[in-house]
Amino acid sequence: MPDPAHATGTILTIDLDAVVANYRLLSTTAAGAECAGVVKADGYGLGVVPVVRALAAAGCKIFFVAHLGEALAIRAAAPRATIAVLNGAAPGAEAEFAEHGLLPVLNSLEAVAAWTAQGSTAGKDGTRLPAILHIDTGMSRLGLSDTELDRVADDPTLLDGIDIKWLMSHLAVAEEPDHPLNAEQRARFEAARARLPAAPASLANSSGIFLGADYHYDLVRPGAALYGINPRPGAANAMKHVARLEAPILQVRSIDSPRTVGYGATHRVTGVSKIATIPVGYADGYLRSLSSRGHAFLGEHKVPLVGRVSMDLITLDVTDVPDAMAHPGAMVELISERYPVDAIGADAGTIGYEILTSLGARYARRYVGGG
Ligand SMILES: *Cc1c(COP(=O)(O)O)cnc(C)c1O
Repeated sequence: MPDPAHATGTILTIDLDAVVANYRLLSTTAAGAECAGVVKADGYGLGVVPVVRALAAAGCKIFFVAHLGEALAIRAAAPRATIAVLNGAAPGAEAEFAEHGLLPVLNSLEAVAAWTAQGSTAGKDGTRLPAILHIDTGMSRLGLSDTELDRVADDPTLLDGIDIKWLMSHLAVAEEPDHPLNAEQRARFEAARARLPAAPASLANSSGIFLGADYHYDLVRPGAALYGINPRPGAANAMKHVARLEAPILQVRSIDSPRTVGYGATHRVTGVSKIATIPVGYADGYLRSLSSRGHAFLGEHKVPLVGRVSMDLITLDVTDVPDAMAHPGAMVELISERYPVDAIGADAGTIGYEILTSLGARYARRYVGGG
């Protein structure tokens, strides 16, 4: 494998001090609750092991991932941490969870039964293994359904084999504080808790933390805000920006007669212009929907992306930038505080989460800070 820096010259810098500052702000905002770190999908695309190390050094003791493989990937980086697996244990994987001390999120009564069975095979006489019990209050995705909740409320012995560390649920519209579903989900969560054995509780993701103390319970589960995504869209972003992407200009094409730029000939230059070509494309997670919509910075100059995003290249209109700056090898800024992932997501018709989790494998990654 060639060093990706040699292959493209493109540098993705991840500011671990910013991740830690974001963790501290979220912990303070949810003072009274414990603050976990959600690090699924490779730490939202930023590299899970460096992120976990930095968060663990900052005092984070609980990590959430989606899959068993993601949990195993961070076990060594956080040997004493609690690692919870949101998608639960696949049937047959319970022994591996127990062996590595992982905390499954139990999303159904079948999962409860399988984890109970694992406890009785692993332990002497029915050891109760720890788990998180997930109640669906409005996502209709994972977690005990209303029918399953009725069944356990009628027969609480169904839970006797589980050491419930937290009862959890997940909010559907936490980034819209005025949406009535927030209060409805909270009411359903309260009602469910009243029917289940007493246990600590967890409801809020990043945005949920900003809905107020009523939503904090004992454990909050931020992901996106750790990585700089604004948990309160519409308000100023209190989080520090984490990811910075810079790429070199490969070539500058000077054009003096009408020509088109890129696939589909969607962009036409009519007068004297300069087009800079950059070695980043949709194969790197620079989404094709940014065609003729995105922009970049060359020094202080904001330069528009023109034409289609190709697999490995994009083209920027640098006509207004002096030649002394717009030359091969000069670095342009594609992601930064000036063009944050939320804004890129909006321009691409998606959300900052997808921009981060799409970040490509061909970038040289540099980690700064983090202790
Ligand atoms: C992904 C996820 C989170 C974190 O959500 P953010 O919006 O990224 O803060 C929390 N809880 C559950 C169940 C999740 O799936």
